[in-house]
Amino acid sequence: MQNNEIKKIIIAGGGTAGWLAAALFSTHIPKERLEIVLIESDEIGTIGVGESTIPPFLGLLRNLGINEQDFIKKCHASFKLGIKFDDWHKIGESYFHPFGQIGANIGNTDFYNAWLYATQNGLDIPLQDFSPSSVMARENRFMLPIMAQGSPINNAAFALHLDAKLAAKYLRTHSESQGVKRIEGLIERVEKHENGFIKSLTTKRGEVLDADFFVDCTGFRALLIGDSLGVGYISWENELLCNRAIAVQTENTDIPDAYTTSAAQDFGWRWRIPLQSRSGNGYVFSSQFISDDEATAKLLSQVQGKPITDPMVVPFQSGMRKEIWSKNVLSLGLASGFIEPLESTAIHLVYRTLDFFFRYFPDKNCDAVLANDFNRRIANDYIEIKDFIVAHYCLTEREDTEFWRWCKNQPITQDLRNKIEVFKKSSALRETGPEELFRAPSWYSIFEGMGVRPKRYNFLADALELEELVQFLGKIKPELDNYVRKLPTLKQFINENCKAQ
Ligand SMILES: Cc1cc2nc3c(=O)[nH]c(=O)nc-3n(C[C@H](O)[C@H](O)[C@H](O)COP(=O)(O)OP(=O)(O)OC[C@H]3O[C@@H](n4cnc5c(N)ncnc54)[C@H](O)[C@@H]3O)c2cc1C
Repeated sequence: MQNNEIKKIIIAGGGTAGWLAAALFSTHIPKERLEIVLIESDEIGTIGVGESTIPPFLGLLRNLGINEQDFIKKCHASFKLGIKFDDWHKIGESYFHPFGQIGANIGNTDFYNAWLYATQNGLDIPLQDFSPSSVMARENRFMLPIMAQGSPINNAAFALHLDAKLAAKYLRTHSESQGVKRIEGLIERVEKHENGFIKSLTTKRGEVLDADFFVDCTGFRALLIGDSLGVGYISWENELLCNRAIAVQTENTDIPDAYTTSAAQDFGWRWRIPLQSRSGNGYVFSSQFISDDEATAKLLSQVQGKPITDPMVVPFQSGMRKEIWSKNVLSLGLASGFIEPLESTAIHLVYRTLDFFFRYFPDKNCDAVLANDFNRRIANDYIEIKDFIVAHYCLTEREDTEFWRWCKNQPITQDLRNKIEVFKKSSALRETGPEELFRAPSWYSIFEGMGVRPKRYNFLADALELEELVQFLGKIKPELDNYVRKLPTLKQFINENCKAQ
């Protein structure tokens, strides 16, 4: 071991962020090398609303050595093939943002441009009919793509809907089995060294807990990064108007859908996340236009199934910390920032942040050169996600309420404006970096769903013989449909493989 190594860390907070951090630290660093303590307060509890994930979550489970089937059973999880957006472009219209690929390259042309070429010449088959995840979601059928190698669905992808409280419990058991020590206690004071680094945390019971490094997972309270170190917050409220959510859980009335529903409302949008045992629902809205009581009444009038929890109000501000890592504190989860949950990216950002942090892992001095570069890198991820979310709003054609009129005319960043303009003019997707989260199929889906089609397809498609191309596309659509219709229903697949325990 080298000198000056970090030997002890304290993770403050035991929500999804805290326990994910504990699981990742304890998986990657042997307990003889790093002592990990997590402190959480039952008096405060966790937010418990982050229940929809994206496909890298499955990679995370593998990374942690967690058995996917066991996790699904114990977290009452269900499968998610994408997100269905209702009424975002125009009232009465829906579109799907699937996981995985849409078709496959044809010759030297990417599928989207081949499809565009055929569509501009008379083909009448929607883009999503070539996405295996979209077709499975539409038919409510499911199979793991890995169990269908060489079939029309082998380029599908999926994620999970999970019970946030059960997931935190699962990750806690996993972390404790790897040597993480948990302390129940309310942090009341934070002591600092002369250089401004955090020295110790003192609990209500008077326990003093010191460490070399601290991970702030205290949720929106941001006790260490915000209150103690005074790191400010960059607000995106001028780009994303929604600033509150009402959340309520309901009984399942029907077979759960294999997707998250995001239904646009007069002043925001409503989510529905079906798990095996119940569904999570919420209305994300802007308080400029509707009160908590009105939003609650609206949500309760629309949910399917009997409510099983009281509606909970969650105020938030989309934005991020000016520095996610400052001195000897790394912030994660809601303490580090939050972008409204339209594309279910918050849990992803927790392990993305940790993934980068491990690349830059410091010694006790926490060299500012490392922290600065890390902060630059992770800020890019936040901004990429924020712009992707803004694209869902600013491309609307709705003008029926003040909220939607504002969205349609809202100020957007030059980067996003360029992305939209370049696509409209040429079908090219302007990339912001090599490690982008949302890749071509995601942008194609949102653009197509929001009525944005390029003026021209990429010239490489001209090399394709049009008649053959149209025939080929006309043939693969029914092949995919027929294959999917023979798959188990989502319910059958779950019952046979991973029924909730
Ligand atoms: C409306 C809404 C919907 C969301 N939907 C999604 C989604 O679909 N998908 C997704 O990926 N994410 C979603 N998120 C985000 C997701 O909920 C969070 O990223 C995730 O739950 C992590 O939360 P957390 O652990 O940072 O905070 P919390 O769950 O709030 O945990 C904070 C922890 O800190 C502890 N704590 C706080 N103060 C003290 C103290 N003084 N002493 C000791 N302990 C303390 C608490 O006890 C708790 O253990 C959503 C968020 C919101 C607001």
